[in-house]
Amino acid sequence: MPHSTHVKDHRRILTDYFGYSSFRPLQEEAILHVLSGKDAVVLLPTGGGKSLCYQIPALALPGTGLVVSPLISLMQDQVTALQQLGIRAAFINSSQSRQAQEEVVRALLGGQLQLLYVSPEKAVAPDFLSLLHRAPLGLIAIDEAHCISAWGHDFRPEYTQLRTLRQNFPDLPMLALTATADPSTQKDIRQQLQLRDPGIFIASFKRANLFLEVRPGKKRLEQILQFVQARTQTPGSVYCLSRPDTEHMDCKPQAQGNNTRHYHAGMSASDRQRVQDDFIHDRSQVICATIAFGMGIDKSNVRWVIHYNLPKSIENYYQEIGRSGRDGAPAEAMLFYSFADVMRLQEMLSRNESSQEAVQLAKLDQMKTFAESLVCRRRILLNYFGEAFDRDCNHCDICRKPPQRFDGTILAQKALSAVYRMRESGTLSQVADVLKGHAQSEIRQQGWHRIKTFGAGRDLPYADWNYYLQQLVQLGYLRIDLSAGRHLRLSPSSRSVLFDKQPVQLVKRTALAEYRTREKERLSRSATQADLLFDQLRQLRKALAREQGVPPYVIFNDATLKAMVEQKPLSEQEMLAVSGVAASKLKRYGRRFLEVIRTYVQEQGGKSRDGSSRRLSIQLYEEGLSLEEIASRRDRSIRTIVQHLAAALEEGEKLDVSRLLPAGVLQEVERALPYLEKPVRLKALHEYLNEQYDYHTLRLGLSLLKGQGKKL
Ligand code: ADP
Ligand code: ZN
Repeated sequence: MPHSTHVKDHRRILTDYFGYSSFRPLQEEAILHVLSGKDAVVLLPTGGGKSLCYQIPALALPGTGLVVSPLISLMQDQVTALQQLGIRAAFINSSQSRQAQEEVVRALLGGQLQLLYVSPEKAVAPDFLSLLHRAPLGLIAIDEAHCISAWGHDFRPEYTQLRTLRQNFPDLPMLALTATADPSTQKDIRQQLQLRDPGIFIASFKRANLFLEVRPGKKRLEQILQFVQARTQTPGSVYCLSRPDTEHMDCKPQAQGNNTRHYHAGMSASDRQRVQDDFIHDRSQVICATIAFGMGIDKSNVRWVIHYNLPKSIENYYQEIGRSGRDGAPAEAMLFYSFADVMRLQEMLSRNESSQEAVQLAKLDQMKTFAESLVCRRRILLNYFGEAFDRDCNHCDICRKPPQRFDGTILAQKALSAVYRMRESGTLSQVADVLKGHAQSEIRQQGWHRIKTFGAGRDLPYADWNYYLQQLVQLGYLRIDLSAGRHLRLSPSSRSVLFDKQPVQLVKRTALAEYRTREKERLSRSATQADLLFDQLRQLRKALAREQGVPPYVIFNDATLKAMVEQKPLSEQEMLAVSGVAASKLKRYGRRFLEVIRTYVQEQGGKSRDGSSRRLSIQLYEEGLSLEEIASRRDRSIRTIVQHLAAALEEGEKLDVSRLLPAGVLQEVERALPYLEKPVRLKALHEYLNEQYDYHTLRLGLSLLKGQGKKL
């Protein structure tokens, strides 16, 4: 099918079905690619919006979009959410009754389904495959595609069978979607699914909505309690290393009146399910869990994640913080760091006797330096994942109060040049040794005592070099190659420092102590007040969700509620303009949410400076209420209401005032103007017109003329 015919369609689907006004990065590119009939690999971070990349093509193309998804609970949620949007979606898996399955099959064969979710086992079962051959399929999407690879972190043997799908449907466009960026996993996905020259769509791992923070691991419980207290009703989770910790943690906030539960692998399946359901449905606010929690749930409004203990690696950390703020609205990630945790983890790793021990210890070390660093947190993360990022993010604890920096260009040049001359085959400590001019035997063996940079950094203590080399890694000027003996390697940005004299700013090693002191002061300050309207909207959402037995975020996600708070829509028209509100949702829920916003605006009245009070008066007027009715409804004087309307008229707003201005009054006012002193006073006008009209009428008449550009 030609490309251009879709351009309108897929955008229209975005607004009409999903209520969003624009695509997130790479969504549109991936969608257009699939619409042109080609295969694609879509790599977006958690919360990046992977689902739309196959949902929109499935809606735009004739036939059903078949979606393979590994987690049954997730499947159910997705389908519920789609049905809420007026999309014909269904799922089929072993958890359903036979009858329910047959019903879905009938709909599928009848061409009534736009999207069908299946488990991997089902997808490749021979009788199901033969069914699929009789169904009108439009595309195939493989969600969580990293499960196919033994290099990925969540290998599932049943996924390796999925190539059968490709063999059965060689002509359908096939998409593989995942949030794991590792290059070897990527290659595996392409090969195993036999993708035909797929388009590769990899988005940034920035997750700009997440505020990243590391705190010293002291008085953790107190800090958490304070944190939770300042965020009443906002869902979040606390990740602990051990089971007893989760249970211990759980009773504390509980005692403070918070709705808290714990979750760990030692609990029965039904207990775990219940805890998970309560959390999804906003019946509990806080979950204290071991890291397994959150894997299978697609709750987009988790607002914060706290790491009670240090994660094992930056990969783990990134994955776990990714469970908050998936809807793109502001969210927080807080990590407690203590050296005791590092020791504990090191011990656990060495007890495991895994062949991967060296790699795992190295990863733990990177995690530790992340926590100890005074470099922008996001910058470290992105450089770690190989996404060159040479700025500060302005949205982490370090950026909020940046430490003082000095010109470290010469220092960096020396270090990079040492790495270069050592032919990128020395470890971090060896490079530090070379810079210091330590000529021990391993340095001699390599002949590094003869290179030009040997001893070029004698003036600094060894510990400083260690620290600065680590910092250069975090800033992206160097890279530690885990697959090759932890050797330091140059990166593309090293080149600009070595050869183009690009300046490098570094943080002094002594800054760390100063920083920790300031950090302590900051912790003692109190937190912000939760927003009233947001709370009310959330309450309503929860009530509606309970009525229908669906998770709250299926109704509107947090980003949409935030947008409502921001824009305070008062009419259906205005509501429709809010991101995340499409026609079907407006019809279902619009009125209820509008009521809450209106009541809020009404109660806030003149206190709000955003003009919402005035907009409410105008809205009520346009809905046909008289001045008296508006005034009594709003518990205001008529004069105030007239002021609201008059102000709107003066600004040239289109308002039908025929109901307020008796025929002919405008002409009479206009005729009187030349005889009155400027600026025209109402009293004078009133008298000139023989007290025929009341003040309100005259006021509105004058404002209308003003709005039309008349000089008064
Ligand atoms: P992922 O599967 O990549 O983790 P999802 O597909 O679940 O992410 O999307 C995360 C959230 O972002 C969902 O609430 C979704 O509705 C929302 N979303 C997706 N695309 C857009 C968009 N273009 N504009 C606004 N919100 C979006
Ligand atoms: Zn930052």
